[in-house]
Amino acid sequence: VEDGEMRHSRKTKSKRINGYKRHVATDLDSKAILACSVLPANRPEHEALPKLKADMDAQGIRVAEAHFDRAYMGSPTVDELAKAGAEIVCKPWKARNGDHFTKDDFALDLRARTITCPAGQTEAIEFGRAVTFDADACDACPMRARCTTAALGNGRSVNILPNERLQKRLRLMAQTKSGRQRFRERVPVEQSLARISHRQGNNARYNGARKNTYDTRRAAIIQNLEIAQQRAA
Ligand code: SF4
Repeated sequence: VEDGEMRHSRKTKSKRINGYKRHVATDLDSKAILACSVLPANRPEHEALPKLKADMDAQGIRVAEAHFDRAYMGSPTVDELAKAGAEIVCKPWKARNGDHFTKDDFALDLRARTITCPAGQTEAIEFGRAVTFDADACDACPMRARCTTAALGNGRSVNILPNERLQKRLRLMAQTKSGRQRFRERVPVEQSLARISHRQGNNARYNGARKNTYDTRRAAIIQNLEIAQQRAA
């Protein structure tokens, strides 16, 4: 990290260690670990993100690009980073709905804040709230069986994410070869996590997330020193 500014960072996929999960943020240029956190394994990954960011803030690190695993995208910290000017790079969430129309089959107009269904019905949307299509229109729709399993008298609903604009940008990125290549830029962090896992083993040494976080920080410091040594050699 030079001049307190991180050009790349990424919060990894967590690694399970005996009832806990280890999370690290790594500088993709230098491969140095910038922050780490250990949380109970039953906590969602995105809860680690504010802790990692707080650690980096305390070091005066400004994130210019943040490469995430998808599991971290539910954190409001992602929006905080984006608002602070970081470019978010992450595979977009995949819309799934069994054999029925997925969200991708609906046209979202984020500027007009509307969504149009495959049958041409349009509804207004609010970010962070589910939109429900007009029940009468859905009841009469010839595509109903392909769209929803809701009982008659209930319209199809679609979840509109708080960060829908970001998701749209990521979906567009996923459609291009250069965009997909950018998703792969985070690979060195997998190696960084594997290396710290090898060093610490897969059994948590202590009881409690706090002590295990300190233990992971200790391992990260040694790993960073090794990296610095290799670079200097
Ligand atoms: S069931 Fe409703 S939301 Fe689905 S295509 Fe028909 S009108 Fe549109």
